[in-house]
Amino acid sequence: MYEFAVAPAVTSIRRRGVEIAGVSPESIGSELELESGDRITKVNGRTIRDYLDFRFQTAGETELVLEVRKASGEDWELQIERGEGEDFGLSFEQIVPRQCANECIFCFCNGNPADARPSLFIKDEDVRLSFLYGNYTTLTSITEDKMQRIVEQRLSPQYVSIHATDLDVRAYLLGIEKQRADIAPKLRRLLDAGIEIHAQVVLCPGINDGAVLRKTIADLAEEFPRITSVAIVPLGLTRYNTDPRLTAVTPDFCRQIISEVSAIQSEFRNTLGTTFAFLGDEIYLRAGRAVPARSHYGNYPQIEDGIGMVRSFKTQFSALAKRLERGLLRQNKLRGTLLTGTLFAPVFAPLIEKLNTRLGTELSVAGVENNYFGGDVSVAGLLTGSDLLAARRQVKGDFVIIPKSTLKSDEEIMLDGMTLKELNQKLGLPVHAFDLQSFGRFLSA
Ligand code: SF4
Repeated sequence: MYEFAVAPAVTSIRRRGVEIAGVSPESIGSELELESGDRITKVNGRTIRDYLDFRFQTAGETELVLEVRKASGEDWELQIERGEGEDFGLSFEQIVPRQCANECIFCFCNGNPADARPSLFIKDEDVRLSFLYGNYTTLTSITEDKMQRIVEQRLSPQYVSIHATDLDVRAYLLGIEKQRADIAPKLRRLLDAGIEIHAQVVLCPGINDGAVLRKTIADLAEEFPRITSVAIVPLGLTRYNTDPRLTAVTPDFCRQIISEVSAIQSEFRNTLGTTFAFLGDEIYLRAGRAVPARSHYGNYPQIEDGIGMVRSFKTQFSALAKRLERGLLRQNKLRGTLLTGTLFAPVFAPLIEKLNTRLGTELSVAGVENNYFGGDVSVAGLLTGSDLLAARRQVKGDFVIIPKSTLKSDEEIMLDGMTLKELNQKLGLPVHAFDLQSFGRFLSA
C-alpha cells in the first residue's frame, strides 16, 4: 500500500489494460484492425496490466481471446488463432515506474540542480524495470502481489541494491527503519523460487567499506550461484549533495578498495570460478589504474552498471580499428574533435592517437568538465549541453563528436534541456552524437 501512496498521480489513476503504441503492417495486429491507442484489457479472461502481462499470458498460446477497449470507446472481443511463435506485430506503451519509499542518504535525486528535468527526480523502484533493463530495486516496499508476480512470470534476473548485509548499516544508508530494511526473507523466497539475483553495493567511504564491505561480499557469496554477481560502485557526489554524512570518494580510497577487493576476487576465482564481486570501472579510473583484463569480467554480468564497460569498449574499439584499416575509408581527410568526460578522456585519447596513425585521420580527444552537476561527476553520459559548449576552445577541426549517451534515448535532447540542433548552432560546427558503431560507420561512409 505504501508503494502506491508515494506513486505519482499518473500511476494511481492507471487505466485498465495496456495501450498499443504501434502496429506493424501485415501483422496479426493489423489483420485484427488493432490500432495505436487501443487497450488490450484481457487475454483468455486474464486481466492485463502492462506489456509484461500481455507477453506472459500470450506466450506459447496459439488460440487466444483478446478483450480490447478501442480508442473510440467500443469494446471488442477477438478470437485469434496463430502459428506457434507467430508475432502479433504490436508495440506497447512504456511501463510507468513505481517509485521507492526510501530516503537513501546518497540518492541521486538529491544531487540534481533544482531546475533539472522532472524525469531526473523520478525515484523508480520497479521490479518490472529491473527485469527488463537491469534497474536496481531495494525490495524494501515490494508488495506481496509483486513478489508473486516475479515468481509466477519468471521475471528473472532481478537486480537488487543491497549496499550492506549489516542491517543497521543498510537501514542507515536507505534512511528507513531496520525492520523494513531487512529483506532477507524476501531474498530467500526469490532465490528458492529460482529467481537469479545480481546485487549492488553503492560504496560510501566510512559507512559501508572496510569490515562492513567484507562481510557483505562474504554473505552474498554464500548464496552463489543463486546470487550471480555483486557490483561495487562508488558514491557519486554532485555539488548539490551537501549531506554531511557523506564523504567523497578519493583516488586514495579507490586504490585502497582495489587492493582489498583484488585479494577477495582472486580467492573467488579459485573457489567459485568467477570474480563474483566486481568493482565499477570508475574505481579503477579514479585510482589511476588500468581496468582489468577481459577474462576478469566473464560474460560481463553487470556491464549496464559500469562494470567492464571500459574493457568492453577497448576490445570493440580495437576490432573496429582493424576493420577500418582493412576496409574503405572516407576519401577526405577527417579532422575533428571527440568530446567526452574527464574520466574517460585519458583512456580514449591513446586509442584515437593509434587510430590516427593507422588511418591518417586527424582526430583529437578533449575531456570536458561537468559544471552542471559539479562535484566529482566526470562520466561522459552526464555531460550537458552547457558543459559541451563551454569546451568550445578545445575544439579543433571541422566537426565535433559527442557521446550518444548524453542524449535522451528517444529524443535528441541533453540533461539540461539543450537540443543537439542548438548545440550545433551554438558551436557553429556539425555535431554528431555517436556510439562506437555509428562512429565506425561515419569513418567508413
Ligand atoms: S532507492 Fe534509489 S531512488 Fe530510492 S531513495 Fe534510494 S537511491 Fe533514491
